[in-house]
Amino acid sequence: MIQPIEGAHSTTFSSDRDPEDLLPARMINELVYCPRLFYLMHVEGQFAESIDTIDGGIVHRRVDNGTGGLAPAEPCATQSFIPSADEDPAVIVPEATKPKKRRKSKHVQAATLFGDDDDDGSEAGEQEACEQQSDQDSDASEEAEDLPKTIHARSVTLSSESLGVIAKLDLAEATGSVVTPVDYKRGRPKRMADGTLAAWDPERVQIALQVLVLRDNGYQSDEGVLYFNETRQRVRVGVDEELLDLTRSAIAAARQHRESGQIPPPLVSSPKCPRCSLVGICLPEETRRLANIQQPPAAVRPLITARDERRPVYFNTQGMWIGKKDDLLQAKVEGKVVQEIRFNDINQINLFGNIQLSTQAIQTALGRDVPIGYFTQKGYYYGVSGGLGVKNILVRRQQFRLADDSEFCLDIARALVHGKIRNQRTLLMRNHREPDATSLRDLKRYAARALTADSLASLLGIEGIAARIYFGDFAGMLKVDCGVSTGGEGYVTAEKRPAFHFRSRNRRPPRDPVNAMLSLAYSLLTKDCLVAATIVGLDPHLGFYHQVKPGKPALALDLMEPFRPLIADSVVLSAINTKMVTADHFICAGKSVVMSDAGRKHFLLAYEKRMDSLVTHPLFDYRVSYRRLLEIQTRLLARRLSGEIEEYPVFQTR
Ligand code: SF4
Repeated sequence: MIQPIEGAHSTTFSSDRDPEDLLPARMINELVYCPRLFYLMHVEGQFAESIDTIDGGIVHRRVDNGTGGLAPAEPCATQSFIPSADEDPAVIVPEATKPKKRRKSKHVQAATLFGDDDDDGSEAGEQEACEQQSDQDSDASEEAEDLPKTIHARSVTLSSESLGVIAKLDLAEATGSVVTPVDYKRGRPKRMADGTLAAWDPERVQIALQVLVLRDNGYQSDEGVLYFNETRQRVRVGVDEELLDLTRSAIAAARQHRESGQIPPPLVSSPKCPRCSLVGICLPEETRRLANIQQPPAAVRPLITARDERRPVYFNTQGMWIGKKDDLLQAKVEGKVVQEIRFNDINQINLFGNIQLSTQAIQTALGRDVPIGYFTQKGYYYGVSGGLGVKNILVRRQQFRLADDSEFCLDIARALVHGKIRNQRTLLMRNHREPDATSLRDLKRYAARALTADSLASLLGIEGIAARIYFGDFAGMLKVDCGVSTGGEGYVTAEKRPAFHFRSRNRRPPRDPVNAMLSLAYSLLTKDCLVAATIVGLDPHLGFYHQVKPGKPALALDLMEPFRPLIADSVVLSAINTKMVTADHFICAGKSVVMSDAGRKHFLLAYEKRMDSLVTHPLFDYRVSYRRLLEIQTRLLARRLSGEIEEYPVFQTR
């Protein structure tokens, strides 16, 4: 039994509104599927591909190849026919007025009628199944020429100003003045208990919208057809008053959601969520758990994939030239191809030093929302290039509002510093040869003190003291006696001390290999936090703890605080302790120390290994990679900013 959408009332769309305000019919379909999905996609502008969306896109790409239009309705006073962008606006003449007996087969006839000369066999197959019934009607019509003929037009766009909607009909079957919209769907139809086929509400509403738009354009239309690509079956959808009510209230609800600026709550333990392409953006069960809204899940289902299948790519060889060939990123050194990587496998491009990237490669990367990070040869992070895909401007507006609220900033900053000190303590406990009880006790004390700090200045003081305690014991986590370098380009100190000797943190420039690696690790982590902030739609330069300063990615620095020990420091320790990086990977340059290209390559491998390793989320109890975790934590911060959750849960490892 279908129900009207709660709180939504049918509205008439005012004709003096901006035509861009017309709601596409597929948006209404998405609203009926899940109001939160509608909001995320069409109010916040967020999107993520899944197998289902890619598959659906392929089905529609074939359908959209059509170049047809409908003959005008008689009378057609209210008609507003809008051809597709790539479509010839010429109206197809009904078959009855064309010379007869000119087709060799049904497919050729269909192609000619639609203006398609390039249909391939498979498409024709789908077309045949979809149009079978109509073709039978047409065959019958040829024998009884006094009956009205059926004509087909594909990819027809019609709008209704009174409803304020626009609909793209995959296929319109017109018999006389009666037009039946046909919508192509991937997958299979709903099967009822008695074995008959049926449609789900979102699909029925989409058909009803198409029928309403057809009627508003002067055509007679009472039903539509859903064609399911996977099973090649048709399901007829009769449009009755009950369905029309649901459709009108869905249109009104869509407008209300767009204007309210309030994200609807996630569905409750819905079977729709595991298949939803936006599940990693929506975080339905995580949000319910933290927001404590009705029916929080007893256990959070691991609905998001543990890791992104795509990987960041780093280019480190000086003088390298990188271009695009077909769908590949192609790296050349002295004119010789040294590496080719599929664009589909990349989620970041990072360049160290003197490396050229062609305009075509840049355009392709930015067009696919693949950020390009720039570092100096020594690893200092310059910045990032990104495409135009700015998302979720609403959360950015809220970020700007709340950054002016000193209480809010202090609240977030306390949680960040507390989490960072707790994670430093955990790293010492796990990795130190002989953890010092006083240090551990003091770190615990300062972590607790951070939670009650009364200003950002006192938090900075607490953080500084904790850092001194932590780095004072850092050397105890280095478990190899690397000795001095054996020569060559290796790192050789005047005092002949061990290469990985560590006394205290120093930088700009780092004066020993451990500090050189720490600086590089923090640069890489800044880059990844900046990318995470950008993906979520936040401004990476406006922080809550770190203050605004030109060129400083303050929010990225905020986000990385709890992860400094868990990702950056941990990578340095494992690179040294597993001898992925050795003393011979460093070069002395005056008082500073730099990594060789080979050393940086090894270190980047260690960093990516860490980012790809799985960690259990203490609140949700599922395992995700550190890279995925950065994104989840950033999305939770966005939920805090939008007011959906009341506390920002800083990540603390167990
Ligand atoms: S994950 Fe579930 S609640 Fe979230 S948008 Fe998708 S269907 Fe809706």
